[in-house]
Amino acid sequence: MKLKKLIVAGFKSFADRTVFEFDEGVSCIVGPNGCGKSNVVDAIKWVLGERSAKNLRGTEMMDVIFNGAAGRRSSGMAEVTLVFDNSDGRLRPGGSEEGAENREVSVGRRLYRSGQSEYLVNKAPARLKDIREMFLDTGVGVDAYSVIEQGQVGAFLQSSQDERRNVFDEAAGISRYKARRKEAERRLERVEQNLLRLNDILAEVEKRLRSIKHQAGRARSYQSYSERLAELRALYLLAQYHMFQSQRRDLQKRLDADNDALASVQSMIDRLEAARSAAQVEADDIRRTERDVESRIASASAAISSAEERAEMLTARVQELG
Ligand code: ATP
Ligand code: MG
Repeated sequence: MKLKKLIVAGFKSFADRTVFEFDEGVSCIVGPNGCGKSNVVDAIKWVLGERSAKNLRGTEMMDVIFNGAAGRRSSGMAEVTLVFDNSDGRLRPGGSEEGAENREVSVGRRLYRSGQSEYLVNKAPARLKDIREMFLDTGVGVDAYSVIEQGQVGAFLQSSQDERRNVFDEAAGISRYKARRKEAERRLERVEQNLLRLNDILAEVEKRLRSIKHQAGRARSYQSYSERLAELRALYLLAQYHMFQSQRRDLQKRLDADNDALASVQSMIDRLEAARSAAQVEADDIRRTERDVESRIASASAAISSAEERAEMLTARVQELG
């Protein structure tokens, strides 16, 4: 991985666009105190995504924008661009195979006074994440070993085993695999968690299945009981029907018999009624005859009385005459 150019504009002490060409053989930058050597390192760190203003020797990020100097107005924007030689195709902008065909790859970062900022890869807007991924295992990066500042060697020797390990891993080119392994482990963990959740769901489903089976058993026995009940009910109703039917027949018979008896009583009543009217007529006749006989007796009595009177009278005359 070869750095070809560094272009700074409006960054820290570099008010004007300044191009550093790192041709073959360039191994250092020298200059008097305060001339901006460390600013060059800051520029490289910044363009590779340094987020801490303190690590860039400032108090806030805006401190990287050229602040003005005697006779120079401050700039509105800081821009740093790194140009890498990619003839070996190690860098794949965009993450695709075709990306490796870029002979040169540039990475840029801009910050405006308004606070707006952007990253660029080959002049096209990009995400810092993509830039980091692109540089994995190349040794290029804020946390990688290619940028070792003043005092960092000492700090490196004193750093923890893990931190040292990270730098060696990057140099050995295994960070990419480690990152992939981490990602794979994360995925595996997610899968394990999903599996746990699935097991929970499975257990829940099994529990529900058991209760559903139990319910199904109960439903089945309910069904057979209700079928049996319907059967028994039908049989009972049929038996009742037959019973009522025979009761009806008996009652009908008794009704018929009672009707016959009623009819014969009625006819007897009719006959007696007729006999009564005939007797009535006869009684009337007898009473009439009685009255007739009585009047004839009376008139006979009267005739007798008058005959007796005449007889007396005649007797008396006879005596007188006698
Ligand atoms: P030394 O040899 O002492 O380490 P150096 O060459 O590393 O010095 P730097 O620390 O890179 O020098 O540069 C410091 C200079 O950059 C200072 O003069 C400082 O005023 C100037 N500077 C830093 N930030 C800005 C800024 N935002 N605007 C203008 N000038 C700035
Ligand atoms: Mg310095």
